Amino acid sequence: MVADKGNESHQHDVLKSTQTVIHLALDKLGYPEEVFELLKEPVRMLTVKIPVRMDDGKVKVFTGYRAQHNDAVGPTKGGIRFHPNVTEKEVKALSIWMSLKCGIVDLPYGGGKGGIICDPRDMSFRELERLSRGYVRAISQIVGPAKDIPAPDVFTNSQIMAWMMDEYSRIDEYNSPGFITGKPLVLGGSHGRETATAKGVTICIREAAKKKGIDLKGARVVVQGFGNAGSFLAKFMHDAGAKIIGISDAYGGLHDENGLDIDYLLDRRDSFGTVTKLFNDTISNEELLKLDCDILVPAAIENQITEENAHNIRAGIVVEAANGPTTLEATKILTERGILLVPDVLASSGGVTVSYFEWVQNNQGYYWTEEEVEEKLEKILVNSFQNVYDTAQTRRVDMRLAAYMVGVRKMAEACRFRGWI
Ligand code: GLU
Repeated sequence: MVADKGNESHQHDVLKSTQTVIHLALDKLGYPEEVFELLKEPVRMLTVKIPVRMDDGKVKVFTGYRAQHNDAVGPTKGGIRFHPNVTEKEVKALSIWMSLKCGIVDLPYGGGKGGIICDPRDMSFRELERLSRGYVRAISQIVGPAKDIPAPDVFTNSQIMAWMMDEYSRIDEYNSPGFITGKPLVLGGSHGRETATAKGVTICIREAAKKKGIDLKGARVVVQGFGNAGSFLAKFMHDAGAKIIGISDAYGGLHDENGLDIDYLLDRRDSFGTVTKLFNDTISNEELLKLDCDILVPAAIENQITEENAHNIRAGIVVEAANGPTTLEATKILTERGILLVPDVLASSGGVTVSYFEWVQNNQGYYWTEEEVEEKLEKILVNSFQNVYDTAQTRRVDMRLAAYMVGVRKMAEACRFRGWI
């Protein structure tokens, strides 16, 4: 995680900029205006109030959201974020991105997303359990294994998924592992789910490096954010022979031209991905982004690469492991400067891909080995990368617009066949 810049006005930009690219993508594909009218916002958005008895005996009322962008292709799917800067607009944008990811990797889902305004870093284990269960009770009518399937996102994990699954199963009076993904293995989780986002990013980096003629052995990599995606990614890149010269969390960054000791940092990070507090010699997140490197991976939160700092990025490839880390203006600047930008909706789609595998295994009651999961993920991600890359080349558009074109097409077709537009 990096320092939060979130507030309602910048979150508005996140929704607006994703709408801008959706509009462009639909135009390029030749769809009429009413398709954009339908897809520019979620079809359903629920706001809930969740009263939680805190450990001091007082009741605190939290606000939560669940957005369902479009369910023409199938049930909606996407994570739940616990963060103080969650807003309605951000959750809406995140649900649209989930639709695009599912379209790009060709899953039988539409996009959904949830969020609760809270700071889990300041809450006890029991308070978090009560909040998680309260949220499920509040949204139970619109979710379910064939309606909308949640998953982890920023500051939520397999324990939270386990409480939520248990609560839903009680409401449903039925053991319902397929209600939520990202569960612990013993509750029907899938092998490879915890590392899936990072694995997917690693595959995209490898494919992008091939296109750019960069050898991963000895390549200098900077990773912004040390949460689920960033920390495992640093490990995978390190194991592939790359040199991780910079990492960061919400409080600052670490830099070493000779390569950081990733195993040590992984060992010392807390469950929220914080590690730099242990060091005196830190740099700021802003300085980290400007480091001279071959591959830069923003793996934290939104709006980190903007028109203010895009000119100072010194990387050959930028691969977005976070959702929405680069603004549209910055995308333009990076592309003009010849930097290959692999967009979030492609690069971070490994998580939802293995979530889909988890749901399939839950539905069939038969479970796959880690090797089977990895083999299937590899195939899907390599094909999806190539598909987006080829679209960018043949349609002469940047990788973000190409990814949106690939991602939106199936959804638009499904709406048409259903007779909605
Ligand atoms: N929250 C993750 C994402 O943004 C995963 C969603 C899922 O597994 O459904 O892609």
